[in-house]
Amino acid sequence: MKFDCVVVGASCVGGMTAKAIAKAGRSVALLEEHSVPGKFNKCTALVSATGLKSIGVNYRPTVVSKIYGAVVHSPAFSFTVRRKEPVAYALDRQAFDEACVNEAVDAGAQLFLGSGARAIEKNNGGWIVKTTSKSKIFRSKVVVGADGLSSTVARALAFPPFRRFVSAWEAEYSFAQEPADKVHVFLDQAIAKGFFAWSVPVDENTARVGLATASPSSLNAGKQRLLKKLSLREGQKKGREFNYSIPLFPRAQTQKESVLLVGDAAGQVKSTTGGGIVFGGLCGIQAAGAIENYFASGVLDYESRWRKAYEKAFKMHWLLHDRVFSLPNAGLDFAFAFAKLACVPLALEKFGDMDFVFKHG
Ligand SMILES: Cc1cc2nc3c(=O)[nH]c(=O)nc-3n(C[C@H](O)[C@H](O)[C@H](O)COP(=O)(O)OP(=O)(O)OC[C@H]3O[C@@H](n4cnc5c(N)ncnc54)[C@H](O)[C@@H]3O)c2cc1C
Repeated sequence: MKFDCVVVGASCVGGMTAKAIAKAGRSVALLEEHSVPGKFNKCTALVSATGLKSIGVNYRPTVVSKIYGAVVHSPAFSFTVRRKEPVAYALDRQAFDEACVNEAVDAGAQLFLGSGARAIEKNNGGWIVKTTSKSKIFRSKVVVGADGLSSTVARALAFPPFRRFVSAWEAEYSFAQEPADKVHVFLDQAIAKGFFAWSVPVDENTARVGLATASPSSLNAGKQRLLKKLSLREGQKKGREFNYSIPLFPRAQTQKESVLLVGDAAGQVKSTTGGGIVFGGLCGIQAAGAIENYFASGVLDYESRWRKAYEKAFKMHWLLHDRVFSLPNAGLDFAFAFAKLACVPLALEKFGDMDFVFKHG
């Protein structure tokens, strides 16, 4: 089968990318290895309100709770950041992924389920994508890898590896957390070494509780300490439990000839939060613009396009990540005490931005 473009991976970023390519009038095949699109809810799915607006997906039917701020804890102190309007939404992630893919199909993309890409070979100035189904072989001028953390496309083309990861665990608990309209964030090296733990309200009696750490061997001990801190018992676990990894910084290269990487496959994730839905989607839209330019002028400038638009933001997140998550507990407590005196929570209420660190424009 012949297409202008093949997008490998039908989750949120693959869906957003395929939609933008199809909208520009190009034929696009969207390949998914499973029989259903999406990440099967392996995500907290807390997404900023402004970020959701910017990616142009009809996310409203997938919202499970509205978030009006955060309570941020060091081992000994805490402060609250409040907003009058919802600053973020917790989503039904599987429903959101399916919405992204449905929007791509509505725009004209052809979805092929049960079609895992297993090899990518050069062919006549383009590419052949071979899949796990022997009868399904795809030819195209451009291939986009939206196939997540363990990207087959990145491996096939020997893209440079990720520099840093965190390992995460999360489950949903029967937990009436207070306040019910804010997320709790825990910075504590004894719980989440090198990153943080969280509790995100889903409804009045349910919360997504999890942590991510730069030290995978400490994950289980951290989980037990977090549950103890929140006075949660195993019997309160409702399910939706998973372990997964998050890449923390973009690969050094995300384009080789006319093969592009987007989303987690590219490492387009905020290293302060592990959030990759908004930037993955925005970079997918940049990829579609670059592909359109390629068909019109022969120049494929995806790498420079997305870096010009967003690399500074990724670097700001990395700078903050480096400064905050490496502090020992005593340093975290000192920083929190100082932050409260210096009115940092108020500044965050006014100027903080979940995606770009500081509001701009
Ligand atoms: C614990 C945890 C919490 C998180 N919380 C948040 C959050 O609150 N907010 C946020 O913005 N982000 C969050 N993230 C990050 C977010 O989940 C990812 O950034 C996002 O899923 C990236 O989307 P993607 O489409 O690039 O990749 P994925 O969602 O991983 O999708 C990859 C798709 O490719 C398919 N695929 C893989 N290999 C192949 C193949 N060979 N052929 C065909 N198909 C293939 C997969 O089946 C899947 O459908 C979290 C991540 C974790 C682990």
